[in-house]
Amino acid sequence: MRHSVPGAADQLSIRRSNLSLVLRQLRDHGPQPRRRIAEATGLNKATVSTLVSDLARRGLVAAGEAEPAGVGRPGIAIGLDGTAICGIGAEISIDSLAVMATSLGGTIITESRQPFDAAAAGPSIAFDELARLVTHAERNLTASNASVAGVTVALPGVLSRTTGWLQPAPGLRWPAVPATEMLTQRLGGRPVGADSDANLTALAELRFGVGVHSTDLLVLSGTSGVRAGLVAGGTLVRGARGHAGEVGHMPFEHDGIGCHCGRRGCWETVVGLPALLRAATETDDPVRDPSIDVDARLRELDRRAQANDGRTLAAFEQVGTALGVGAATLVNAFDPAVVVLGGYFAALGQWLVEPVQRQLEARVFGEAGQCTVEVSTLGFSAAVRGGAQASLDAIFDDPTRIPPLAATTSDAAGQVEARHGQR
Ligand SMILES: [Zn+2]
Repeated sequence: MRHSVPGAADQLSIRRSNLSLVLRQLRDHGPQPRRRIAEATGLNKATVSTLVSDLARRGLVAAGEAEPAGVGRPGIAIGLDGTAICGIGAEISIDSLAVMATSLGGTIITESRQPFDAAAAGPSIAFDELARLVTHAERNLTASNASVAGVTVALPGVLSRTTGWLQPAPGLRWPAVPATEMLTQRLGGRPVGADSDANLTALAELRFGVGVHSTDLLVLSGTSGVRAGLVAGGTLVRGARGHAGEVGHMPFEHDGIGCHCGRRGCWETVVGLPALLRAATETDDPVRDPSIDVDARLRELDRRAQANDGRTLAAFEQVGTALGVGAATLVNAFDPAVVVLGGYFAALGQWLVEPVQRQLEARVFGEAGQCTVEVSTLGFSAAVRGGAQASLDAIFDDPTRIPPLAATTSDAAGQVEARHGQR
């Protein structure tokens, strides 16, 4: 359908988009021989070979072991390399700060998390402290010769995609703040990305968790509230203004208890962690003590349930049922293949899955009722891991951002060529 010979600029743009196509194919479907890359992308095999050599010269892919002979000839599997290229994820949550760096292929290179009372500290101190953690991680990475592709921060609230402002976050008790600008200033002017913790959690689930087997997910993350990340056909649904997923304030009980957002009866007033703690414990129970690590408190609740403690089991049933009733509304609206329980819901997953599943079976219409409920395996690190991946997206969009490296590259490309020649 082309009507003229493409100019140099067109050719560059076609090449860039083909390099991106190959790199994304390896990210989304794992190591594979050139033959399979060609089939999946619709590019011819000679073109794929040239593109793979180019990516190897940039240190982005490497040849692995030969695949065992199956149908047809065996091939050398090409996989993501990029061990020298990292994305950094950072996170401010209500009770902690976290930083994680992952390689292009998603391997965790470094990770740190510290308890932090973000509401008491306020935005300025929170961003100061987060920038300190990011700078520390970055220094360590640079010292080990890794280059940092970018930094993306996960925030516990709604973020404007156009302005980078975090909307007033009731859980944090912060006013609206220019989140990306505040972090950029503290990192010496380098541009940073930012997104809601729910969206970045969903991205991590899509790339490393349940999403490896499905492209239509509803990820429900339980913290002091509940937030959703929705993935449809492998794409994150952000809504017209980027506000999608604020399910915690979905009206749930007509005359319910007051929510920190100022309304009454919001869903999170019955399924957020404080609601569970109220149902399961007395006010002086150490499980309610916010200065104790939340993982340890959840382990204690799990231990009590294992020991058949009636009050704990009743609390799990109550919260699980309310979670399932709300989830059924969302499943009827969006028809996901899988509902993923994340955050604190995942830590208590074995007690919550059954009541949630029961409500979905009772309340979801038609084939949407076949959706399954799974527990996230990424734990509380999901959002920061999604942030690290989001920081690498620019390279998947345009692999030519990484220049060919003279010393190691010819070796890497040569290795790919040599192995290719062995076939
Ligand atoms: Zn509310």
